[in-house]
Amino acid sequence: MAINGIQFQKGLSLSAFLREYGTEAQCEEAFIKARWPCGFICPCCAHDKAYEFKRRALRYRQCGSCRHQTSLRAGTVMEHGRLPLTKWYLAIYLVTQSKTNIAALALMRQLGVSWKAAWLLKHKLMEVMAQREADRPLSGDIRVDDAYLGGERVGKR
Ligand SMILES: [Zn+2]
Repeated sequence: MAINGIQFQKGLSLSAFLREYGTEAQCEEAFIKARWPCGFICPCCAHDKAYEFKRRALRYRQCGSCRHQTSLRAGTVMEHGRLPLTKWYLAIYLVTQSKTNIAALALMRQLGVSWKAAWLLKHKLMEVMAQREADRPLSGDIRVDDAYLGGERVGKR
């Protein structure tokens, strides 16, 4: 039997993930690079200078030009939560690495959060993934792994 290249794609191992994103500082640095790859840009006036300050343990940036205040999480799926970035990043890893859809209960145990928090995290992540892919229909050579179509009908032949 030939090896299916799709099934043997290189992924990010849990140990490699934890080396990259194991601390709050690592996650914050990665988030800043993803959010503002060319440095801070004010969402209101596009000015590139800001002052940082803390309010209730959260770091904010105030635009040096229009004085608009924003945070790293503002306008993202993480905006209204107080969970540490390490929990968010690990949730993203677990939800995206699971081939068979990780259960909220499993996520709760893996993250060490309440079931309600795990359920909300999972559904928020699934929603943003769906939004991200909504305007990118599949095209070209499409391969589906482990798809089950049809099957037996209960009570019918
Ligand atoms: Zn501004």
